[in-house]
Amino acid sequence: MKKERILYWFRRDLRLDDQPGLQHAIERGTLLPVYILEDRDFGTTSYGFPKTGGHRARLLRESLEDLSDSLSSLGGELLILKGEAEVLLPELCRQFDIDTLFAMREVGWDERQTQHQLETNLKESGTTLFWFWTHPMIHPKDLPFDVRELPDVFTQFRKEVEKRSPVRPPVSKPEQIEWIPIEQNTSPIQATDRDQVISHRVLKWGDTLLNPALDPVSDPRAVHPFHGGEKAGLQRLREYIWEGDNLRRYKETRNGLLGADYSSKFSPWLANGTLSARRIYAEVKRYEEKRITNESTYWLIFELLWRDYFQFSALKYGARLFSSGGIQGKSVTQKADWEPFDKWSKAQTGDDFIDANMTELNQTGFMSNRGRQNVASFLSQDLGVDWRMGAEYFESLLLDYDVASNWGNWAYNSTVGHDPRNRKFDVERQAWMYDRNHRYRKHWGFGS
Ligand SMILES: Cc1cc2nc3c(=O)[nH]c(=O)nc-3n(C[C@H](O)[C@H](O)[C@H](O)COP(=O)(O)OP(=O)(O)OC[C@H]3O[C@@H](n4cnc5c(N)ncnc54)[C@H](O)[C@@H]3O)c2cc1C
Repeated sequence: MKKERILYWFRRDLRLDDQPGLQHAIERGTLLPVYILEDRDFGTTSYGFPKTGGHRARLLRESLEDLSDSLSSLGGELLILKGEAEVLLPELCRQFDIDTLFAMREVGWDERQTQHQLETNLKESGTTLFWFWTHPMIHPKDLPFDVRELPDVFTQFRKEVEKRSPVRPPVSKPEQIEWIPIEQNTSPIQATDRDQVISHRVLKWGDTLLNPALDPVSDPRAVHPFHGGEKAGLQRLREYIWEGDNLRRYKETRNGLLGADYSSKFSPWLANGTLSARRIYAEVKRYEEKRITNESTYWLIFELLWRDYFQFSALKYGARLFSSGGIQGKSVTQKADWEPFDKWSKAQTGDDFIDANMTELNQTGFMSNRGRQNVASFLSQDLGVDWRMGAEYFESLLLDYDVASNWGNWAYNSTVGHDPRNRKFDVERQAWMYDRNHRYRKHWGFGS
């Protein structure tokens, strides 16, 4: 009997560990693994910032190199193409006579438009689409309500989910995969008359946006080197939880600003799926069994529930998440005012605490959660600038950019999101509370 031919489209699930979708594909047939550098991710945002700035481009390249190596060690080859997924994938399916295309579902509005278009383009092609969930910690099918009924207050969501939604156990990485052969000397696809369209978009590391020569200079003041890839993500998990034994103190340290271990720093790996939230959950449970169960161990799961909450909120609200009045549909007075925005983004506001945080972001692609809350509130509520300029700037710069977490948190801190209290941060007081001795500000060159 002919084996099912499967195209596995890697998206933000750039790992082999805890990949139930991949596991399912492996059990069903032979595989062609593909990643697409999507044109829309490398264009500009509506305010003109590069969609994927240098810090995240570097992380992505390292993540893809790592995934390529892992697949090679199992005898496979990752095809990396550049273009529009909804156009390239049907072409590939035709060329490789694919029966089923496997891919994770995304929650972002644009990504969902791509999914719809792909479904349309594959109609009547003979290829079936198999979508699966892998980004959230809790499977949407295990929620106690339909996503359209997601509570608008986090606490209500958390309480219901904690009572009624189990986290599925992670699956181990595959040991064997059967591949769809790609002819030799095709690295990665041979150009023939038939596949010119594809072959001219084939990625070569050296001549693309992911060229190492374009990497930003690394800043020794960064909290962590954040090397991309599944191996580095799992290494960070071991280091933070087990070797450093940091989890027992997480609740006390998580609002810190300096150093690798005040918080987990899992976010860059979580964002592009080189680390699985279910794997983290399982490790926290193992740590609780072997070492200690306390408020801190609970709190890391609590934060991962925030992450899930924003995922499901993006799913529920769709394009509304990106409107100036946010999910609340509020009428707002903030404007796209470039003068204060430029000062904010260039770390020249004159407020040392804000400027230190923005310097950290610009130099490294990372900023603490405490810093992010302050700079977001400052831009939208003190400077009166449209919060979406800030969200887009973060989108460009952040190593851990995640559409749901970024836009959801920005809206939250700009009084148009899920926060029922409409909080505004008193930045001076925050700096006094969290950087009383000015160590953080001095670290980034502000104050003596
Ligand atoms: C304006 C603003 C923008 C943000 N943009 C992003 C983003 O694009 N991507 C992103 O992953 N996080 C974002 N966050 C959330 C949070 O700041 C980061 O997840 C966190 O700082 C990452 O560091 P960590 O992994 O050490 O976090 P830890 O404190 O160790 O938390 C563990 C994990 O829990 C999740 N988490 C923690 N806090 C939040 C939160 N408030 N919302 C959602 N998930 C959370 C993250 O996955 C994080 O890795 C944003 C927050 C704000 C205020």
